Amino acid sequence: MTTAQPDRIVLASNNPGKLREIGRLLADAGMQVLPQRDFGIGEAEETGLTFVENAILKARHAAAGSGLPAIADDSGIEVDALDGAPGIYSARFAGAGADEQANNDKLLAALAEVPDAARTARYRCVMVYLRHAQDPTPIICLGTWEGRILREPRGHNGFGYDPLFFVPTQGCAAAELDAATKDRLSHRGQALRALVAQLTAAAG
Ligand code: IMP
Repeated sequence: MTTAQPDRIVLASNNPGKLREIGRLLADAGMQVLPQRDFGIGEAEETGLTFVENAILKARHAAAGSGLPAIADDSGIEVDALDGAPGIYSARFAGAGADEQANNDKLLAALAEVPDAARTARYRCVMVYLRHAQDPTPIICLGTWEGRILREPRGHNGFGYDPLFFVPTQGCAAAELDAATKDRLSHRGQALRALVAQLTAAAG
């Protein structure tokens, strides 16, 4: 199936941090992203065991409810000292409906005894594009961002675990980066640029 670069895409998320970041990256590419709540679409159930499965579930749910092509991001943070947790469960690390503060507090407590050198971690993002709800060949793009978990929060930008995510190449926390720098470096920026490249190449 061919892929035309769409003007309007539904975004399968209600997370304000993700909406901001994905909206500005796709606006730069001339694509208008409409949050799924504009169509009265609620959260999909994330029953998959991988970022890829969950991203496809979310994109299919949004495409079915809107009749538009859909983009979904499934992302999370993988902490080596916790054997990769919280991973796909990052949004609900401290329990269903947990807020960012509770998740960050739980992460700090879990790593209290872990020395600095062993606090390595990475953000992962899987970005999926479905042309329509039955699309059998989704476009799937990945991004990874390496860092370390701090001992206390720093900065007020970004969202989620950003105040605890130290970015060695910049010498500061992700929450201390301005928006353009985060977009340039982040797991989400990488995955979205790869996706936009595929959409624009396919549109020829
Ligand atoms: P999802 O909505 O199931 O994909 O959950 C993603 C979760 O991973 C978010 O709620 C955050 O906890 C975390 N996360 C993903 N990307 C970022 C980021 O760029 N900064 C901070 N936290 C992130």
